[in-house]
Amino acid sequence: MTVTPAAKLKTVVIGAGFGGLAFIKAAKHADFDITLIDSHNFHTFSPLLYQVASAGLTAESIAHPARAAIRNRKAKFLLDTVIDVEFDQNRVVLASGERIEYDKLVIAAGSITADFGVKGVKEFTFGMKNIEEALIIRSNVMRALENAARYHQQPVPIVIVGGGPTGVELAGALAELSRVLHKDFPELGPSPLRVTLVEAGSVILSMFPGSLSAIAKRDLERRGVNVLLDAQVAEVTKQDVSLKGGRLLDSELTIWTAGVKGNAISSLLTQRMDIAARRDDRIVIDEHCRPAAAKFPNVFVIGDLAAFLDADGKPLPMVAPVAMQMGRHIAKFLIKPDVAGFKYKDKGSMATIGRSDAVVAANGIKLSGFIAWLAWLGLHLAYLLGGRNKLQVVIDWAWNYLTYDRTARQILR
Ligand SMILES: Cc1cc2nc3c(=O)[nH]c(=O)nc-3n(C[C@H](O)[C@H](O)[C@H](O)COP(=O)(O)OP(=O)(O)OC[C@H]3O[C@@H](n4cnc5c(N)ncnc54)[C@H](O)[C@@H]3O)c2cc1C
Repeated sequence: MTVTPAAKLKTVVIGAGFGGLAFIKAAKHADFDITLIDSHNFHTFSPLLYQVASAGLTAESIAHPARAAIRNRKAKFLLDTVIDVEFDQNRVVLASGERIEYDKLVIAAGSITADFGVKGVKEFTFGMKNIEEALIIRSNVMRALENAARYHQQPVPIVIVGGGPTGVELAGALAELSRVLHKDFPELGPSPLRVTLVEAGSVILSMFPGSLSAIAKRDLERRGVNVLLDAQVAEVTKQDVSLKGGRLLDSELTIWTAGVKGNAISSLLTQRMDIAARRDDRIVIDEHCRPAAAKFPNVFVIGDLAAFLDADGKPLPMVAPVAMQMGRHIAKFLIKPDVAGFKYKDKGSMATIGRSDAVVAANGIKLSGFIAWLAWLGLHLAYLLGGRNKLQVVIDWAWNYLTYDRTARQILR
């Protein structure tokens, strides 16, 4: 009698981001037939996007080919965009028209910028959620500098909305870019960019202990950033940002880092699964990352798109460690279904302010300044994918540090 081996579990993963890749890595010893689908053929290391936007790094050094990331992981890759999921038939529908069947589906499609309905944000601000957008910011900054030097010899006003880690890191990096570029734009004085950071709350970096938020604000101001707290944006136009209360800030370039929400596919998914959508378009999940209240136990949602609620109904933050830990949890759960429910281990937060300066809060330890900056450098290098990328980033950082220069300034968009 011949014994036919059991068919492998067909597992489709949507998204080659932090969550999707962590799942595939953790499932590498399981006998799954995995297909990874992404609209890009690379993984983006988003924590360093602001350095691409501020001419510190080239785009290629923070993008790692998806196929290289899953090499040796027994997974296939498809470059395509998922436009629908037919949950009743266990199939995902791709933009190419193809339908891919699954036994298990892992949705890790990430998040997009949220404008909270503020007038003018969609039309007149730049988001920084992916490499394309970071390159657009860089190109617009450099073009604005060229125009200013040629026509009116005034520093370029830039407004960044949102005092979270992304806004703070970008503000610090643009302030440093400004100091570096004064040699090449002498017509614009000692500081060719005039950077303002606008935050609606009473502190920046609100997820950090108060003392570190205060240090971050002080250090940004020392670098020449104008930090406005309790400042809510009422409207953005092509040339200015108006705040509630009437204050008007002139702005050649407005960058919106104030909000994120679940990927655009989210509303379609909630409709198809017949579950309620949240205001932030994230999908509420249960202890094994399955959409809560949905009748599809073979579907998992992780990362930024997922809302894992704590006892107070507050979702976990949209950060890479949450996505990665969820990805690893599902792999464990699929291999051993009696595993305990998902529990997030918060390892802390860090943000850079600029050269030799960062803030770190981890396990009750608070660090700032040079030591925190070294910790930040080490951790980001450790998590960046690709040996060549790590080497390239070390070379660029060393070059920027030693020469006080930025060479990745090309206007490409
Ligand atoms: C500027 C910036 C800075 C950040 N800094 C930090 C930081 O310092 N530390 C930190 O922990 N977190 C940081 N984050 C947050 C972190 O990047 C996210 O929490 C994390 O990427 C979420 O992982 P994910 O797997 O859910 O989604 P992602 O990593 O965003 O991956 C989603 C993937 O899905 C793909 N995709 C989307 N829709 C489709 C579709 N329909 N079909 C096919 N493919 C699709 C996308 O192309 C993408 O590759 C930052 C984010 C940004 C934008």
